[in-house]
Amino acid sequence: MALIVQKYGGTSVADPDRMRNVAKHIAALRAQGTDVVAVVSAMGKATDNLVELARQVSSNPQGREMDMLLTTGERISMSLLCMALHDVGCDAMSFTGSQVGIITDTSHTKAKILEIKGDRVREALAAGKVAVVAGFQGVSTEREITTLGRGGSDTTAVALAAALKADACEIYTDVTGVFSADPRLVPQARKLKELSFDEMLEMAGAGSKVLALRSVEFARNHNVPIHVRSSFTWEEGTWVRGIDEERKRKMEEPIISGVVHDVGEAKMTLLGVPDRPGVSALLFESLAAANVNVDMIVQNTSIDGTTDISFTLPIGDIKTAEPILKKVGDEVGATGINKDENIVKLSLVGAGMKSSPGIAAKMFRVLADNGVNIEMISTSTIRISVVVERTQLEKAVRALHTAFDLDSGEDYSAPLPDRK
Ligand code: ADP
Ligand code: ASP
Ligand code: MG
Repeated sequence: MALIVQKYGGTSVADPDRMRNVAKHIAALRAQGTDVVAVVSAMGKATDNLVELARQVSSNPQGREMDMLLTTGERISMSLLCMALHDVGCDAMSFTGSQVGIITDTSHTKAKILEIKGDRVREALAAGKVAVVAGFQGVSTEREITTLGRGGSDTTAVALAAALKADACEIYTDVTGVFSADPRLVPQARKLKELSFDEMLEMAGAGSKVLALRSVEFARNHNVPIHVRSSFTWEEGTWVRGIDEERKRKMEEPIISGVVHDVGEAKMTLLGVPDRPGVSALLFESLAAANVNVDMIVQNTSIDGTTDISFTLPIGDIKTAEPILKKVGDEVGATGINKDENIVKLSLVGAGMKSSPGIAAKMFRVLADNGVNIEMISTSTIRISVVVERTQLEKAVRALHTAFDLDSGEDYSAPLPDRK
């Protein structure tokens, strides 16, 4: 029998009506004889609201308690969805991450999945039930409840699909697939029919939140096809799967598949550090030891034997990084530190880039012609990223989208649902 793992994001289960709609869809699939595991996110903005509540009672909540709090959002969704399924005559049973045996490391609020046991899900399926699983959570090797980082329900779903050897993993969200840019920012964005794991990995890594990065890593490592689609229209969405790049090139796919932006990063700088061996090693070792996720790094050429080292990091990691920079700065004799949250990272992603010279030059020219100053640059074989000032976001993304011939001629802005 076919097995599909489905994931419903926050907007897909935001209110009782949406929840009943999802239940009907699952019941219909089950009635056709497909086994279904449904992974759910917290309703609407429930996780944001819980984070805000925590902030109101504490300036620095402990990770353990934060995870205890945040996992409640998904528990609400899983039990309500089961009730809605029972109501339409579909037998279903809900499970927390810990009940499913999703074993993680001990890193609270950004834990990594180490293993999935999955026995209870298998038993429920064997008994003819739909298994509804709370996304974004697990239990650590120290038996503590953990969460997988924001957007982590995608990872729960793909990892479960891999562990259960499902035929596919469907990610239901509030857009109809993966687009050539965020359709909320670029109404002319084009829906992509399919993407290779590598391209999606670069898009997710560059900050496109339509799929969480770790979920794509799981999909690629275990060859799980992902179908990103809408729970509002249920139409065919975007397939992310292993694609022979040679075949793709022959089909004359565009060189660039998308423009990605990420407003979740900040830039920090260690100013006036002596230009001698060991400074960068000390700085980045200390940041890594504190689990700070450093992304782009730039070191200026030294003037009078001193230099500046800048890097980007998730805004949420600034609190951890700041004291580390101060300490390392004191140790090596830096003149100061600087932080800038007013930035955005823009990336061009496309497998065709490998064999097409001049893409970076064209990107920089388009930005220059639009008066956008580039603060940092980094590249991979199929991605070019720049950091620019946050105020330039819309202008820059739209200009790049047009310049690289990605505009579709259609306007997708109208039907997009509100985010509650
Ligand atoms: P969910 O709550 O369903 O997990 P997310 O907010 O995490 O939803 O992800 C869906 C959102 O991702 C869309 O509403 C869209 O604004 C945004 N997004 C960013 N980049 C893209 C892209 N290239 N294609 C589609 N959606 C994108
Ligand atoms: N509810 C969590 C979040 O908002 C996990 C998820 O939705 O994927 O980040
Ligand atoms: Mg998401």
